[in-house]
Amino acid sequence: MSHAVPLPAHTWPQLEPGWVWLCGAGPGDPGLLTLHAVNALRQANVVIYDALVQEAILEWAPQAEHIYAGKRGGKPSAKQRDISLRLVDLARAGKRVLRLKGGDPFVFGRGGEEAQTLVQHGIPIRIIPGISAGIGGLAYAGIPVTHRDVNQSVTFVTGHDQSGNATGSLDWQAISKGSQVIVIYMGMKHIAHITRQLIDAGRSLSEPVAVVCTATTPEQQVLETTLGTIVDDIATSGLEPPAIICVGQSVLMRQVLDWQGMAEGQAPRDLDPLGRGRPAESA
Ligand code: SAH
Repeated sequence: MSHAVPLPAHTWPQLEPGWVWLCGAGPGDPGLLTLHAVNALRQANVVIYDALVQEAILEWAPQAEHIYAGKRGGKPSAKQRDISLRLVDLARAGKRVLRLKGGDPFVFGRGGEEAQTLVQHGIPIRIIPGISAGIGGLAYAGIPVTHRDVNQSVTFVTGHDQSGNATGSLDWQAISKGSQVIVIYMGMKHIAHITRQLIDAGRSLSEPVAVVCTATTPEQQVLETTLGTIVDDIATSGLEPPAIICVGQSVLMRQVLDWQGMAEGQAPRDLDPLGRGRPAESA
């Protein structure tokens, strides 16, 4: 960025000893860190990070001790309490503690639980939101999470509950009827169950679905499929979590908006993958 003008002056908050900042690291690409996240990474003595935080992001905190606190989905999560108490201990030891979580800490990330434990123990906290995979990850696949004429609402769901089972408490009928676009986190393990629920609730077998794996990283892979074929397509593709699964017509926008690999002078693309006419010139 040497050609860029300097950033405007701004008073950045100080990460004081004895504090814990719960911070979203975004979906992977370090460029999606917020300025507050970078400010925190530069000041921390200790960074406690999850499995979904990319190694490249830890390089932004070379001065800090890096502690891995990973849990993978479906495994027993008894360690959650240990992680929260570790944060308490580090804060009480006078460290400047940065708790770094993938995406946004308050989106299917247990950030709320960790924050509760800290507050219960009298530890002062700050929350730094991050770009959630269900929004930013889809954007990196050229899929707008909302698109005028397609959806006026979007539902974010988790594919499994705390113990790794398919989420029994979700009302798939209501979600299917009420939300044109459904964005599923942690959906790979129970994809057969989830698609059956959606089809039983009336969603079409031909409904477009995208599976976006390790979104925003150099390893990003995107599978375009349908509700009727997703289970077989995931099996034959060999795709692995982490993945965001997007169900709905907005997936078709990728045919036009898949921006990775775009080049100057490329052929114009058909603007009308949804068959709804060209976007209006004015708002
Ligand atoms: N707090 C995180 C979500 C944690 S739950 C956030 O806001 O993004 C973990 C799930 O998030 C994964 O199973 C996957 O569904 C999704 N996820 C997180 N990072 C991802 C990535 N880079 N690519 C695809 N999915 C991702």
